[in-house]
Amino acid sequence: GRSVHQIQSGQVISEGLTSVVKELVENGLDAHATSIEVRFKSNGLDAIEVIDNGDGISPENYESIALKHWTSKLTSYADLDSVTTFGFRGEALSSLCALSDLQIVTATASEAPKGTKLEFEMSGKLKSRSVTAAQKGTAVLVENIFKTLPVRRKELERNIKREYTKVLGILQAYAGVCVGVKFSVFNQPAKGRRTPVFATKGNPTVRENVSNVFGAKALSALVPMNLEFEMKPTRKGFQKAAKPSEKMIKIVGFISRPVVGEGRLAPDRQMFFVNGRPCMLPQVARAINEVYKHFNVTQSPFIFADIQLDTNAYDVNVSPDKRTILLHDQAEMMESLKVSLTDLFDNHEQ
Ligand code: ADP
Ligand code: MG
Repeated sequence: GRSVHQIQSGQVISEGLTSVVKELVENGLDAHATSIEVRFKSNGLDAIEVIDNGDGISPENYESIALKHWTSKLTSYADLDSVTTFGFRGEALSSLCALSDLQIVTATASEAPKGTKLEFEMSGKLKSRSVTAAQKGTAVLVENIFKTLPVRRKELERNIKREYTKVLGILQAYAGVCVGVKFSVFNQPAKGRRTPVFATKGNPTVRENVSNVFGAKALSALVPMNLEFEMKPTRKGFQKAAKPSEKMIKIVGFISRPVVGEGRLAPDRQMFFVNGRPCMLPQVARAINEVYKHFNVTQSPFIFADIQLDTNAYDVNVSPDKRTILLHDQAEMMESLKVSLTDLFDNHEQ
């Protein structure tokens, strides 16, 4: 029968392929990678491999990395308040062991070009390690995802096209927002050769990343957003904020002009970030859509928006996948956003 671990693991990667790819990419970023390559086989149904050139895994951690709740990223409970890494729950690799065939090849700077191939039992216990050639970094190969949850697997097979589109969406978001990190994405159909999907060049700006991902033509139809406004202190906590920077909010990114018929190159693409981390912000999407309606445009805009604000101004981790963000003073914030965005469009030459 199915173990509790398998079922709980299914919840951790609740968004299916999207969660898997997100966790693996974030592990690469946490390891200071400047290059992340993602290789899909059959849109991810057969295999997902994420190859980074980051720090690699230290041999003393081989036995632990796939154990439930083990993480190298926290040293004390107090650190939870100041986590700067993406992952801190130690659940991704453990869940993948329970749900797929997982294989890791890794090498630290001092070991390369010698590396180690690691295989695990379903429980997360290290099954085997062997020497292999490897460059500095880590390659995580996930095959047959959800093989232990037949109903989830069937569901994934049925919805693979839609799932794959969603995964590419999240990869585009990371590739756009991560400056100085080169992303390359490939897919290999069941019968056929590996083909590139998109790639960025390790650019120093988000602008160049967006151009790489969506094309120079798409970029030319976008208005750069660089909104900055001060929050009116409505909460006691906010009022007490010592540094003035704690009251400032910046919204940086790109948005399609509110002109009927324009911005069709990338319709319905809406990517939100809080301090550079992809997340769901339906409240912000709603506010921006309202501004569009004000300009009598009903088609939904392309949005690539990084909300930069003090970490005291929001809560993360309210959902299992950490992507839902609770903004304090949300109503105020959305009002200020609508005013600034309306000004931006009014002042922008059309
Ligand atoms: P978490 O990221 O929350 O620590 P994971 O299950 O994602 O949990 O990873 C477990 C541990 O494995 C990490 O803490 C890290 O030490 C190691 N690890 C995983 N992926 C990588 C990687 N790409 N590069 C270096 N170390 C990694
Ligand atoms: Mg992780």
